[in-house]
Amino acid sequence: MLIKIKCPKCGIEGSLSLTESGYQGPYRCWKCRELFTIKIDNNELKSCEPLSQEEFEKQQEIEALKAKFKQS
Ligand SMILES: [Zn+2]
Repeated sequence: MLIKIKCPKCGIEGSLSLTESGYQGPYRCWKCRELFTIKIDNNELKSCEPLSQEEFEKQQEIEALKAKFKQS
C-alpha cells in the first residue's frame, strides 16, 4: 500500500509504502528534507507534526535499542 503524503512545508507530494494499514513514526520529505512525525490510520494520513533532527535521532536510538533486545 502506497500512502501519499503532502509535505506541509514545501507542498510537494511524497509517498510511503506500508505493509500495514496503520503507521506512526518519522517521515522525511524527499525534497526539502524536513522531518515530520506522521500518523496513518486505515491508510489515511491523520496527523503530521514537525519533528526536529534531535528528536528524530532520539527515536532512531530507541528503535535500535528495541531491535537489539528483540534479537537477544
Ligand atoms: Zn517538503
